[in-house]
Amino acid sequence: MRLGVEAALVDGRLVRGDVEVNDGLVARYGIRRGNGRRGLAAPGFVDLQVNGFGGVDFATADAAAYERAGEALLETGVTAYLPTFITAPEEALVAALREVPRATPGPRVLGAHVEGPFLAAARMGTHLLEGRRDPDVALLERLLAAGPVRLVTLAPELPGALELIDVLGSHGVAVSCGHTEATAEEAEAAFDRGALTVTHLFNAMRPFRHRDPGIAGAALVRDDVIVQLILDGHHVAPETALLVWRAAGGRLALVTDAMAGAAQGDGRYRLGDVEVEVRGGSARSAEDVLAGSVLTMDQAVRNLHALGVPLAEALGAATAVPARVVGADVGSLRRGGPADVVVLDDNLEVARVLVGGEERVAA
Ligand code: ZN
Repeated sequence: MRLGVEAALVDGRLVRGDVEVNDGLVARYGIRRGNGRRGLAAPGFVDLQVNGFGGVDFATADAAAYERAGEALLETGVTAYLPTFITAPEEALVAALREVPRATPGPRVLGAHVEGPFLAAARMGTHLLEGRRDPDVALLERLLAAGPVRLVTLAPELPGALELIDVLGSHGVAVSCGHTEATAEEAEAAFDRGALTVTHLFNAMRPFRHRDPGIAGAALVRDDVIVQLILDGHHVAPETALLVWRAAGGRLALVTDAMAGAAQGDGRYRLGDVEVEVRGGSARSAEDVLAGSVLTMDQAVRNLHALGVPLAEALGAATAVPARVVGADVGSLRRGGPADVVVLDDNLEVARVLVGGEERVAA
């Protein structure tokens, strides 16, 4: 099947010509023959942090709810994601992890992102303090046994956190630093130990100061660290996003941190144990703390491009870079690779979506 597109994003650059998909795989690209081609084929988007979507809160979702959320995610171009569970009591996390589907008809579920409970008490954001725990290898092992954990966010300055990084590494689970008071020095120690990314840079962490750059400063100057950003117009200012881009272009991963209200509209929703009100494009708890977002990944790409970031690189931040965090074979179009494709129109709106070559959102 030819997609009928004008160009495709391959290896981080735009290649003119159509794309052919056969047997679920990308067969060819750069096909110059044929008229009337429209749109750009990009790899399907990869989202490392999705708490919920389309009215579904993954903390309490069953298989049917995952399917509903998956359909809504596909509409936004996401073809692979990590359902994300914020800090909660062990029983709740175990129950949520057991429900993570290994195969779904929707976007690929790459495994769970467990954001907590080993976080800094002073940087919980909207996470409930009652669920917070100091690093505890036995608890971590029980969580890993409960479901397919792929990414864990922890505060690396906590006593015993570096041992957790070792344990996660030995299980092949990626480590992200977040909800943290870590100084630059403590952050460097965690990166040296194997943590390779930072969760929602600047949000819920020690602030950057000129003589105390903290984990944000350490991450921005380290070429081997991927920084994640929620680019919804509420979590960081445009100047902050540009600063991050200029320091860390090519290792910036867009995440949505979406919660149940995403793709739903204003109203009241749950984010785990937290009640959240969505109004005017932001999601806030009763204490008026940002509680996830209602951002969609296609909008995040448009937002990054609108800041002046070249399109190919803005798309990379939603595809190849997040895929690198979890080492998944997604986020790129290559001959013989899985045909997870989002076709974008001239306004960068999602026109079509394919997962494994199967058309899931049609023009
Ligand atoms: Zn968070």
